[in-house]
This record gives sequence, C-alpha cells and structure tokens, in this order.
Amino acid sequence: MLREGSGRPGPRYWQQRADYTIRAALDTATHTIAGSETIHYTNNSPDTLAYLWLQLDQNIYRAASRAAAINPTDARFAGRGFEGGYTIQYVRAVQRFGKASGRAPLATRVNGTLMRAELDRPLPPGQAATLELAYSFEVPEHGSDRMGREQFPGGWLYEIAQWYPRLAVYDDVRGWNTEQYLGQGEFYLEYGDFDVAITVPRSFVVAATGTLLNPLEVLTGPERARLAQALKSDTTIAVIAKTEVGQAFTRPAGAGPTLTWHYSVKNVRDVAWAAAPNFIWDASGYAGVLIQSLYPPEANAGWARSTEYARHTIKHYSEKWFRYPYPTAINVAGPVGGMEYPMIVFCGHRAGDRNLFGVTTHELGHQWFPMIVGSNERLYAWMDEGFNSFINIYSGLAFYHDSVPQGRGPAAQWGRFAATGRDQPPILAADRVTPALLGSVEYGKPAAGLYLLRQQLLDDTTRFDTAFREYTRRWAYKHPTPADFFRSMEDALGEDLSWFWRGWFYRTDVVDQAVDSVRVRQDSSGPITRIFLASPGALPMPVDMRITLANGSAENVRLPVEIWLLGNHYLYERKFAADVVKVEVDPGQNFPDVRRENNVWTKS
Ligand SMILES: [Zn+2]
Repeated sequence: MLREGSGRPGPRYWQQRADYTIRAALDTATHTIAGSETIHYTNNSPDTLAYLWLQLDQNIYRAASRAAAINPTDARFAGRGFEGGYTIQYVRAVQRFGKASGRAPLATRVNGTLMRAELDRPLPPGQAATLELAYSFEVPEHGSDRMGREQFPGGWLYEIAQWYPRLAVYDDVRGWNTEQYLGQGEFYLEYGDFDVAITVPRSFVVAATGTLLNPLEVLTGPERARLAQALKSDTTIAVIAKTEVGQAFTRPAGAGPTLTWHYSVKNVRDVAWAAAPNFIWDASGYAGVLIQSLYPPEANAGWARSTEYARHTIKHYSEKWFRYPYPTAINVAGPVGGMEYPMIVFCGHRAGDRNLFGVTTHELGHQWFPMIVGSNERLYAWMDEGFNSFINIYSGLAFYHDSVPQGRGPAAQWGRFAATGRDQPPILAADRVTPALLGSVEYGKPAAGLYLLRQQLLDDTTRFDTAFREYTRRWAYKHPTPADFFRSMEDALGEDLSWFWRGWFYRTDVVDQAVDSVRVRQDSSGPITRIFLASPGALPMPVDMRITLANGSAENVRLPVEIWLLGNHYLYERKFAADVVKVEVDPGQNFPDVRRENNVWTKS
C-alpha cells in the first residue's frame, strides 16, 4: 500500500530525496548570479531511473518561452519584457571507484523550463546519484512577482528565488512531475538538506533559508549579541537600527571586497535568500525560533511591526495546527508583493498596517502549506493557497480580536461571488485559472469551503481541527494528493463528504435552498403542517430553518444534508402548537446561497 484508504501514507509509501550543496556569488555590477551545485539524489522508488528531470525556472524569461506566449508583458507573473534564462556550463555525474572519483559529462536536453539529464548509468532502487552543475543567470527586476531586484537610495535590494537548477519530483502517482513553469503555478520539489554559501559584496547583509554557520565572519559583535538577545525576547530587538543602516560599522572590518554567508538547512523543499546594503534588521524569538524582519528605510513605516506580526503568525499556527519545525522565520520587504519559500518570505515594501499583517500571516502561513505539507502547487494551488488562506482567517481573528473574519471565509461573501456565475473549479491546475479569478478560485473558495465545513457542516469545530491536524501530521514532509486529503479528513471525521468535495472543489455547483410552499393536512390527531423544501442548486447543504408561529414563538430546526439523498425536494412534516406563519431557510446566512429571494415563505 502506497497511499491508504484511510488517507495515510501507506507502509510502502516512498519518496525521492534531493540534497544540495550550492556555492553562488552575486555580481551586483551585472546583476548576475553564478553558481555551482552538487545534487545528491537518492532513488527510493522501486524503479530504475535512466534519466532525471530538473526544473530550470529562470528559463521562463527566455524570449520565446511558453510563458511569454500566454502572459501579457506586464502581467503579475511575467517579466516585464526582461529576457534572460539559465546558462548551464556543465552537468556531470560524479563517479566513484573505491576511493577515487571521476566526472562524466551528462547529455542534457532543455525542454522549456525543464531539463532532462541522461544518467551515465541507470540508477537502481535504493541507490544514489551525485550530479554537479554550474550555471548563471541575470536577475530580472520583476521576476514574475516571485523574485527580483529594486534600486533604493542605499543600493540594490535583491530577492533571490527559483535560482538554481532543482530536481523535479518523481512520485508514485505520476512518475516525473514535469509541469512547466508558466508563472501562475508556483513549484513542486523534493525534500532534502542544503549546504549553501552565498558570496555578496562586503557591504551587503544576507537573509536566507537556514541556520547561519559563520556569524563570526559576516556579522559584527554587536549584531551577534543583539541576535542572541532577540532569540530570547518576546518583543522586537533592533539588530541594525534605522539610524545605523548602511554605515560601515554595521559590516565586519576587513579588506576583501566580498563576504560569503554560509547556511545549513535541514529537510526543506527549497531555499531562497535576499541581500541588500541598506536593510533595517530586527528580530525576536518564539520557542527557540528566531523571528526576523529585514526592510529598507524607504519601506512603509508599518514594517516596524513586521516582526511582531511574524511572531504572532508562527506562534499562532504552531499552537493551533502543527509546531513550526525550523530555526528561523524571516520577512523581507522588497519589490515582490508576496511570495513564500522555506523559512523566508518576501512581502511588498509598500504594505503597512492591516495589509502588511495580512500578507505576512499569509506568506508565513505557507510554511505549513506547502513547505511542511508538500503538495504540488503547479497542479493543486488550492491545497496550498486555499488551506493557507483558511488558516489565515483564524490568525487574523486572534491578532485583531475580531469576532467575524474581515476578509475571506464567510459563506455569504462567497455566495455573492458564486451568484455572478464566474466561479471556476479549484481543482484546475494553477495556470488554467483565469488570472483575474485566481484569488477567488484558488484562495477564496477553498478557504470559504473549509470555513463552511468547520463552522457549519460539522457540529463541533474541534472535530474539524482534530482531523485537519491529523492530515497535516500524516503528510508533513511528504507529497499528498487531493484524494489523500479527502480520505484523511473523512477517516478522521467519520463522515462521507464526497458530495461536498465534488461540488465545492471539482465543480462550480451552487447552493440554492428554497421554501416551495407550506400546507396543512388533517389527521385524526389534528392539523399537521407540511413544509415543502427544495434545493434547486446542484450543491446540497444541511438546512437551517426558522419557523415562526401565529402565537409569536419561533424555533430553529437543523436538517442534515442527507435529506437530499433521494433528490432535490424534501417534505418536512409535523405538528405545531399554533399555525405556522413564516418559514425561512438559512436565516443566519451561514450557507453560500446564491438566490435568497426563494428562502422565505410567509402566510398570506
Ligand atoms: Zn499564497
């Protein structure tokens, strides 16, 4: 069993592993990154592999790329006309002969943003291959709102991601996952450990995924002391204060023009980093996690609260869903509006106040989905954007002490959108969703759906929480599919939710509940009221009904979704103490009913 009916990874579940050693340098004169990497790839599959597929995301900026054909030049996920892409100097296999080793050049073929490398010898199950690559690329200013650079008065600020050739995922479901990088779909990668060394000008400060291994070389004594203090502090401590930004004493003394920042990273699916000579840097700590923010002086003044927002975020999700497993969580202000990588996120420097809280708690929420729970973002954006948008609801409620969500979540809000008829199924691959609808379809709808499930469809929110935690725990550091999620939730909840998954995630069925009519019949015991209900929308839901009597009293009735098992008409029949004068379905607007005109019957 690879994946079980219970929604768990089965006893024979397997997953490939890719460990990386990366050495890269940023040339700020040419805005170029040149690097070399060693990939240690472990084949845990039962298959012998003759070739490997690698992701070359920078090739999205090739002049004739597929993405260039489908994205308008100024689209969010395009490059604003920038032409670039990877130059690959070599790809070779490391061969070992006892204690000696050799190098064998590998034949490769680039296919858009992917590259197939022919192994020098077949890689059997249980064995590992070691590849060496050297590459370079020019950093675009606007890198599809995922990476890029921006010039500030103090110098260029770089946000570097999707920046080294990365192993594609080979899994039991689809073999090689070779979705092209087209812009709107993010990424899907194997887990592994990283050893990363990044060389930048001496005046620059680097923030990166992982644990900094050489603070003595790249930080000053006061900076190291402030970071140590911050790690133990609930409140924000300045590491480089605004008044200190860009001053020579913030960088270690020395003659060399560059410094190399060295990081160790465990069990992640990617690494990313940022560098600038003009970062304000502050930090705090939560349960041994170093919470950091780096932002230029020109950023929105609201960034002074970034670390507070980030700390709340890491603490809240840790306590509510799954403990944050990594040593640091970093928020960087720059040109990217909002993008997530393991341990580090990029949020727009213009954001402030509630917008900055929102983007921070969203991007850092991605540490859980898809960084810890590693779903395929290019195929199933709803499993990371949607799940994340859902947990963001409760982070926001907790931070602002609101009683109802300010943004996504409430059913009535979703119902108004669904009523426009513009809905698309969240199950669509990311690049198949109309760009203008991405937020509604892959963020808003799944979030509203899980909110509906937790708050309304289940009788107790703790049932949902227990099941959702179980899914997260079962699939942490693994590759779940939608079916794994559905099965895991049903198994833990003890509910058949197939109707809900199908209608909400695979289709665009709408909820429309109605009171058709109310009549009275007599039997030997007296009058019996017959309430004729209908569900003309294709998506069934439980029914909340408020029944008002002529004597002024009213009662609320909840009918289970099973009333629709035999069709979309249902007769509710019983005795009342007085005449029924009004019946209303969904009076609390707890369901996303697209047509409320038919929800009320009143006696005429
Ligand atoms: Zn997101």
